[in-house]
Amino acid sequence: MTWQPVDCHAHSTFSDGALSITDVVERAAALGVRPSLADHISRDVAKSITSVADARRYLDALEQIDVLRAGEFCWHDGLWRELPDDLVRRFTHRLGSVHAVRLGDGTLVRAFTSKLPSGLTVDDYMDAHVASVEQLATEMPVDIFAHPTLVALPYRTLDVDLVWTEERETRIVDALFHAGIAFEISSRYRPHDRIVRRAIARGVRISLGSDGHSFDQVADITRPLAMARQLGVADADLYDPTRHGSKRRTAPVATAQQSDQVPRSLGRPHLVAADQSRRRRGRRGSARICRPGRRSTARPRRRSRRRRTTTWSGERALPPRAHGDARFSRGPRLSAMDSSLDRRSPRRARSRRTARLGALWTRRGRSFRNHDVRRHV
Ligand SMILES: [Zn+2]
Ligand SMILES: [Zn+2]
Repeated sequence: MTWQPVDCHAHSTFSDGALSITDVVERAAALGVRPSLADHISRDVAKSITSVADARRYLDALEQIDVLRAGEFCWHDGLWRELPDDLVRRFTHRLGSVHAVRLGDGTLVRAFTSKLPSGLTVDDYMDAHVASVEQLATEMPVDIFAHPTLVALPYRTLDVDLVWTEERETRIVDALFHAGIAFEISSRYRPHDRIVRRAIARGVRISLGSDGHSFDQVADITRPLAMARQLGVADADLYDPTRHGSKRRTAPVATAQQSDQVPRSLGRPHLVAADQSRRRRGRRGSARICRPGRRSTARPRRRSRRRRTTTWSGERALPPRAHGDARFSRGPRLSAMDSSLDRRSPRRARSRRTARLGALWTRRGRSFRNHDVRRHV
C-alpha cells in the first residue's frame, strides 16, 4: 500500500468542530490523508466531551467507522485522570495540550484570553509555560504534545526571540524526549523552525496535525508535511499510531539517565538506529541552531511551479537546509490538495496552470496534446 500521511489531530461535532466524524473521514480521503479524530475531552473547553460516559459514547461512535481514535486532553483539567484503563486502551493515540498555564501563585492563564493578569511579563508567562509543559510530560500518558508553541493571545504577535529563548526550547524538547512524547507540527499554530530543528536533533518524533475544525482545515497537513521533509524527517519516521503504537497509561517512563544512554523513540527499540542517525545529523543541526546572526527574516515563499504527484509515496525527506531558510513551501504537494487550494484561489490557480503548461511547451518543443489541456485546466 502506498504511504499516506496521518493527520493525528482533527475535530468533529463531538467537540468544537464543524464536520461530522464521517465528513472528516471523507474530507481526509479526498486529500489522500489518513484521518483521525482528536476531539476535546476536557471540562475546560467550551464545546467538548466533558464526562467519562460521553468519552465512552465518542469511542463507540468512532469504532463504527474506519478512523484512528484520538482525544485532545487539557493538561490543566482533571478529566484525563478520571478515564478508566479500559477506556484509555481504546484510543489509538492521545494528545496533551497546554491550553492554560499555571503561574507560581496558582493562577491559571488561558491561551485564548486577551486579558492577562496585571504585571505579568512575557518572561513570567513563558517560564510558567515551560514549567507546565515539563509537568505535562511527566504526568500525562499521551503520545503527542499538541501545538507546542501555542501561547496566550497577546504574545502571539511578538517576535519569536522575545518569547522563545534557546533555553526554553531546550527544556521543552528535553521533557518530550524523556517522556517519549511526539512534537506536533501544527497547521493551525505553526511552530518556528528553530524549535522543530531542536526537537528533531534531540531525537523527538515528529507528528503532523491539522487541528482542523472546518472543511477547509481538516486534514490539510500540506505545510506541516513540507516542513518536516524540509527539516530532514523521513516520511516513515513521522508518528503513525498504527506503526508506532501508543504509550497508554501503563507505559513505563524511563529516567533521564536511561534515556540519555539509549534514545527511546517512543519506546520502540527497532527505531533506535534511525534515531541515532538522526542524532548524528542533529549535532550538525545544533551547531546551526546556535550560530548567531544567520537567521533569516525572509517570509516563506510559495513555489511557482510545484512538483506534480498523484500520491504521497516515493517522496523522500530533503536534506536539512541552511538554518533560517524558511522556504517550506518547496515541499511536494498532493494533487488533490492542489485542487482544494485551487478552489480557494481560482485566479492564482489559473496562472499556475498556465505557467505549468508553458513550461511543458518549452520543454517538449511541440504542441500540446488535447488530453494534456483537459487534465490541467
Ligand atoms: Zn488545542
Ligand atoms: Zn485541537
